[in-house]
Amino acid sequence: MRAVGLHEDVIAVTSRVYATACVLVRHEAEAFCIDSPVFPDELEILPAIASQAGFTVVGLLTTHADWDHLLGRYSFPEVPLGAAESSAARLVNEPGRAQLRLREFDDEFYVQRPGPLSLPGPQRLDVPGYIDVGSASIELHPADGHTADGMAVWIPWARVLVAGDYLSPVEIPMISEGGSVWAYLATLRRLEPLVEQAEWVVPGHGGPIDATRALAILREDRAYLEALPDASLPLARRTQAQKDIHAKNLARR
Ligand SMILES: [Zn+2]
Repeated sequence: MRAVGLHEDVIAVTSRVYATACVLVRHEAEAFCIDSPVFPDELEILPAIASQAGFTVVGLLTTHADWDHLLGRYSFPEVPLGAAESSAARLVNEPGRAQLRLREFDDEFYVQRPGPLSLPGPQRLDVPGYIDVGSASIELHPADGHTADGMAVWIPWARVLVAGDYLSPVEIPMISEGGSVWAYLATLRRLEPLVEQAEWVVPGHGGPIDATRALAILREDRAYLEALPDASLPLARRTQAQKDIHAKNLARR
């Protein structure tokens, strides 16, 4: 797992699996943990990374309700989870789904957890909207299309965009169950002006990237989606795993 300081108030953590992103954001005495790493040792060390940097985590946020972004309660079991209204609805409508997908992953890779994933009902956040962190606010922007739910988080004073599962340097646009090409393109349109102002963009998978690279990925992703079903994969993302995602996109379109 890699942890990188993007700003004195922002730490980006990248999991060893799927290069899944977790972002710690602080203002004054309060910090939030957005999304999560995946492996138990990564989740176990996260509180120490936060406290050594002087981040007091008072809340968890999730960019969307896919299981690999929901594991923060293993690190911070006492703090509440906030999610977009759309993600909270998914968690209610798909009870046990995240736990099931986590169990499938753990079974495949022989991963042992200290216990089952507990996900008490999240606090529902209005998106678009704001949440206070210390005396500052972070902005929540709708980000659906990958799935039916989701939000991106803009940290204005650090100019960091936590994008959720968009703008990934390692993964092509993935239209999962509930998602749609149309909604995905609308999200890219909403994210574009934020990317243009960003110092760093942290996609859900692939590690932090600068705005220039994120803009290039945004354009590639838009071109890919607009060219479906005949789209060719972006040059840097043509692995077998990405071809498999492409085949699923074609089936779901
Ligand atoms: Zn994901």
